[in-house]
Amino acid sequence: MNAPTSAAALHTREHHDAARMPRVIILGAGMSGLLAGIRLRKAGIEDFTIYEKGQDVGGTWRENRYPGLACDVPAHYYTYSFEPNPDWHHRFARGPEIQNYMRHVAEKYDLRRHIVFGEEGAQARFDGRRWQLELRSGRQDSAEFLIAACGFLHHPSEPDIPGLDSFAGARFHSARWDDSVDLKDKRIGLIGTGSTGVQIACAVSRLPCTLNVFQRTPQWVFPLPDRQYSLVERELVTQVPALARLAYGLYDELFDALFSRAMIRPGPQRRLIEAACHWNLRRVRDPELRRRLTPDYQPMCKRIVMSWEYYEAMQRPNVKLVTEGIERVVPEGIVTVDGHTHPLDVLVLATGFRTHEYMRPLELINAQGLSLSSLWDERGPHAYNSLAIPQFPNFFLLGGPNSPLANGSVILYTEALVDYVMQCIDLYRRGALDTLAPTQAATDAFYDQLRHDMDGTVWVTGCQNWYIGKDGLPEVWPRRPREFNALLARPRLEDFEISRPTVETA
Ligand code: NAP
Repeated sequence: MNAPTSAAALHTREHHDAARMPRVIILGAGMSGLLAGIRLRKAGIEDFTIYEKGQDVGGTWRENRYPGLACDVPAHYYTYSFEPNPDWHHRFARGPEIQNYMRHVAEKYDLRRHIVFGEEGAQARFDGRRWQLELRSGRQDSAEFLIAACGFLHHPSEPDIPGLDSFAGARFHSARWDDSVDLKDKRIGLIGTGSTGVQIACAVSRLPCTLNVFQRTPQWVFPLPDRQYSLVERELVTQVPALARLAYGLYDELFDALFSRAMIRPGPQRRLIEAACHWNLRRVRDPELRRRLTPDYQPMCKRIVMSWEYYEAMQRPNVKLVTEGIERVVPEGIVTVDGHTHPLDVLVLATGFRTHEYMRPLELINAQGLSLSSLWDERGPHAYNSLAIPQFPNFFLLGGPNSPLANGSVILYTEALVDYVMQCIDLYRRGALDTLAPTQAATDAFYDQLRHDMDGTVWVTGCQNWYIGKDGLPEVWPRRPREFNALLARPRLEDFEISRPTVETA
């Protein structure tokens, strides 16, 4: 690789007439992979393939099918900014609705012809110029740019509970819902009370069944009321599309003014959210049940759960909260540390995901033969600006470590990430570079700043959550998402090692 080049010098070397067309490979046809495809097509780049391990688009909204599945970010905000959907049926869209939206986007932007389903990346090796990709099927491909759009909530985390495999009834993880199991009149055990467990508890407790909720740590629950949009409202938004854009803008202001600020600094916003959570908890009438549902950490330290219905669900006569620790699973149910056996027919594991895996098990190997896993196994996942990795040129990760993935719309900041990647690809097209990878110094500086900014955030106030990385620090963006988008507005080329095309001289 050539010596680092300053941005100014680089621009003077551009071959404006070169207009080279790179090939691009995207891994994943979820929200971020589709977005990357849309932006490539908009830029006139048609030579790209999206490899998707599943059989449909939609990512997490395809994989999860549990009862009660919904997005706790308002639907008119959980959309691509350029593709409003006047037809959302609820303030908080149900999973299948979002999946249909993703399908619509794939059709409208003519992406399906670029997608190869049922293919998962196994290994990608950089040969100094291109990424050589090998898929699990043995298929091979190569491209100048590789974009991992795999998400981070797709490796189910099975709890390490003795005897789990001995359970005689039906048992499945929330992200592997078994539709063939009829829950009617069954004794159901639900382990986990995160965002997923709470949604399942609300939906399942409405069925004629008994539900035992096994809670290890209580959650703070923010009372955000849902509501159904009437036909008239939907028709109105269809006729006046500006209304959807207005709703998007208002939610954006609300999330920025309230949740974003509350998460990053103590102050009135944090106190307001705490007060709302406490008010919500007081809706639990039985003081003993309320005590067992009361967390001993600050609201938002764990990703806050949004639900108007949860406490109502926990007071339904067919629901039992179990707070004694789980000792083991036996064929007939769960034994808690007090020696009590809770007989069960169905066991649902809403126990979350291995969130630090990102695009792995895909193995990335750079031109020097170094594997990314070996680097990350040692230090934990690290990436410059959350999306690029020193010594791994022309590779971009969407939704990587330290992106703003707490409460808010991930689509909003993914648009900024993809626009950033497109600017880098554009430099290639204009002949300004062949490869680029962030310098170690710029990456270290990014992390120094993150560590500094982490002080005062709610995530370091003392709780266990899936954000915490190997170094004990949360793998989240410690400032407002807007500041993340501002950071990504334009690549700082001085932060990159760049190799340039060699100019032929006569
Ligand atoms: P999660 O937040 O990681 O929660 C996992 C739950 O399982 C926790 O209650 C945890 O208890 C419990 N658990 C794990 N291992 C256990 C064990 N061995 N014994 C007992 N309990 C155990 O996972 P999630 O609820 O699936 O949510 C993951 C993320 O998905 C969310 O944070 C969110 O980003 C996303 N999500 C979003 C939505 C949405 O509407 N936008 C909906 C669902 C999920 P502890 O708290 O004690 O660890």
